[in-house]
Amino acid sequence: MNPIAIRILDWYAHHRRDLPWRNTRDPYPIWVSEVMLQQTQVDTVIPYYQRFLLRFPTLETLAKAPYQKVLKAWENLGYYVRARHLHEAAIKVLNEMEGEVPDSREKLMALPGIGSYTASAILSIAFGQRVPAVDGNVKRVMCRLFALHGPIDQKEIQDQIYTLANDLVPAGDPGAFNQAMMELGATVCIPRRPSCHDCPVQNVCLAFLKGIQATLPVLGKKNRIPHRHMTAAIIRDGKGRLLIVQRLENGLLGGLWKFPGGMCQPEEDPEKGLRRTMQEELGLRISVGERVTSVRHAYSHFRVTLHAYRCDGLRARPKALSCREWRWVVQAHLSRFPFSKVDRQIIKAL
Ligand code: SF4
Repeated sequence: MNPIAIRILDWYAHHRRDLPWRNTRDPYPIWVSEVMLQQTQVDTVIPYYQRFLLRFPTLETLAKAPYQKVLKAWENLGYYVRARHLHEAAIKVLNEMEGEVPDSREKLMALPGIGSYTASAILSIAFGQRVPAVDGNVKRVMCRLFALHGPIDQKEIQDQIYTLANDLVPAGDPGAFNQAMMELGATVCIPRRPSCHDCPVQNVCLAFLKGIQATLPVLGKKNRIPHRHMTAAIIRDGKGRLLIVQRLENGLLGGLWKFPGGMCQPEEDPEKGLRRTMQEELGLRISVGERVTSVRHAYSHFRVTLHAYRCDGLRARPKALSCREWRWVVQAHLSRFPFSKVDRQIIKAL
């Protein structure tokens, strides 16, 4: 076994965190945890993972659950497309693969939402296959360990990282090694101020030996994150019920419920934008009243400020023109529907 791998595995044996998905070789919970961990911190994931596994303890229970139940279990975890892909993939595995999570990269990557990293994590941890699982943490460790200077988003550097990581993975327990590398990146070789003095590979780490660990990895150019304004209409019927709509499945936050309204065009006044989007979404002419609240939120590629207004003047029956469906719901029942974090903040302000 490569001496670097021996040190990392030895360190891991003494420093591994007791995370709930660490003690299983069952591919289904490993898959769920890897999907939840995409773009999300471990501490945030733990309670969601535990609740999700209680609600959907097997792949079959997940595949047979209505999508709205899956979304509800995912509510507030963000990046909802992950939930949709996981559910679609579970259905595919149940219907087309006799309910067995496949043990080949090709078949795994043919499932919705499974990319190269997730496939490698499942193959190595659940099936003991000797493949490197290279996530953002591992990329950082590799760039420093081997003093790789190129921008980390370039294919050439990514290929180099993969080749070097592939050489390190031991045949004996590739899953443990991959998890050890992730753990090292998450707890020791952290983005800013890595704890080199606690690191098991300090005396072979080229970046440390050259004193350049703080300068690596070299990040690619970041594009400016755009900021958009959105609007939402708070409309009550004669019985005091609120009008809510379900988003289209394939769009942003697909399948979640929200208050009607939408994205303003650049430079468009929010009230004007609300009147326009209400026409486009539900075919309704409304009059816009007082502002209830404005909520800011950051998505992966843009930031939004959502302005919610009380509206009235509803003279027609809504038509689901660019939403899946609409409903009148008493306020106390809103908790039964999956909403995004931003819409939950509006509900709090009502
Ligand atoms: Fe990272 Fe420092 Fe360890 Fe090198 S010595 S791998 S820079 S923590």
